[in-house]
Amino acid sequence: MAVVRIDARYVVAYQDGEHRLLENGTVVVDGDQVVFVGQGYEGDADEQVDAGETLVTPGFINTHAHLETAPLDKSFQEDVAPRQFFYTGLVETLLLQEAAIDEAGIETCVGFSMSELIRTGTTTVMHQGVRGRRVAEACERAGLRAYIADGYKSGRWYTPDGNRVAYDWDEDGGFAGLERATRLIEELRGRGSGRVQGFLSPWQANTCTPGLLKESRRLSDDLGVPLTIHAAQAVFEVMDIMAAHGMTPIEYLESVGFLGPRVVLGHAIFTTGTSWLNLPGDDTRRIADSGASVSYNAWTFARRGIVVESLPGYRRDGINITLGTDTTPQSMIESIRWSAILGKVADRRADSWLASHLLDAATVNAARLLGRDDLGRISPGAKADLLLWRLDTPAMTPVRDPIRNLVYYATKEDLASVMIDGAWVMRDGEVLTVDEDGLAERLQQAGERSWQRVPEHDRLGRTLEEVSPGSLRPFRLPS
Ligand SMILES: [Zn+2]
Repeated sequence: MAVVRIDARYVVAYQDGEHRLLENGTVVVDGDQVVFVGQGYEGDADEQVDAGETLVTPGFINTHAHLETAPLDKSFQEDVAPRQFFYTGLVETLLLQEAAIDEAGIETCVGFSMSELIRTGTTTVMHQGVRGRRVAEACERAGLRAYIADGYKSGRWYTPDGNRVAYDWDEDGGFAGLERATRLIEELRGRGSGRVQGFLSPWQANTCTPGLLKESRRLSDDLGVPLTIHAAQAVFEVMDIMAAHGMTPIEYLESVGFLGPRVVLGHAIFTTGTSWLNLPGDDTRRIADSGASVSYNAWTFARRGIVVESLPGYRRDGINITLGTDTTPQSMIESIRWSAILGKVADRRADSWLASHLLDAATVNAARLLGRDDLGRISPGAKADLLLWRLDTPAMTPVRDPIRNLVYYATKEDLASVMIDGAWVMRDGEVLTVDEDGLAERLQQAGERSWQRVPEHDRLGRTLEEVSPGSLRPFRLPS
């Protein structure tokens, strides 16, 4: 086992239950673990890294991602605003995108995601999709720490006419999906480094029956794995669950016993009190009392004009807030930045939602959800998941408070090196575990193939330009 010693200007070191700032610090890693944080280390090391003007932080834990499709969101989903669905893309553009992508495109997306996640600070990712085995193998190869779920549901939605949402129900299909998901968890358990594990993801609150939700919660407890679901992510979802059960999505999940400390709610944006609904109730207290966490994915919703009102308010109510990337960009740097700014905007305050809160959300809060006191922190006994940020770059200079610089100014170019489980996966800007040659070109080709196929899958028979109009009209050349 190699011993690695890292000396840096600043280290985010964990002490007495919180992150602290250590100046001129040393981190020593032995095998996959941190064994020393402080000053005056006198032991030997196989590798000595004099990182100089560098900030060492714990790796970020990304609690919501879809690696199979996310990269192809780009250039297609933006600026499309279906008023009849309260601006969500879930009913039309997202379904079209998923239908139009081919197997080679999915393979490319997964490969691209490995590099994108590593370059932007994710060291642990919670992925939900339908090809868990394949994604697990990619994460193993790339050196990422991952929680993988094959999603399942009792029904699916569609729009028959472009104006309303309808559902196709298949209760047996939901339980068959749960069985597949459970098999994946068991398969991953007995395999490899233990870095890649499984968890459970019933897909959406409005597509899962009470029976499927109850069984999911029971299995999550039995198997000791996290449990996630998309909930309160769209206005139509709240209205449909109201119509079916007379409850908000959060009340519905609580009523079937789904909520609990192992649960992370994807999004939880349209809770009672939001100005989008004018609905009285106490959703946030219910979430907080249950011990469930929220995964906030700022960019996906902000680009549609939607924010949580307000994220600092969720924190005041006692909710454990974690962060994810959902679609594109799969960048925890951007997720942290947008969550910071939008939280302040919605709360209309500068002092209620601070850089330290964002650092916690991206690290220890997510570790709590996972039940892992060896993740999201730099302390002896913790896993060696480390990010080395340059402080001498234009974006990061001048530095008085490196955490503020990280949250409000860092770019992916400032992230120099990434260690996961004691192994370097990126060194001085070079990803060591992913072959990035030709990745961008293959993603371009995958995008072109899928955009071309969009009209075939549109129930209303629209052209690509009608579904997602380009920003500028084409330049007219003289004839
Ligand atoms: Zn999602």
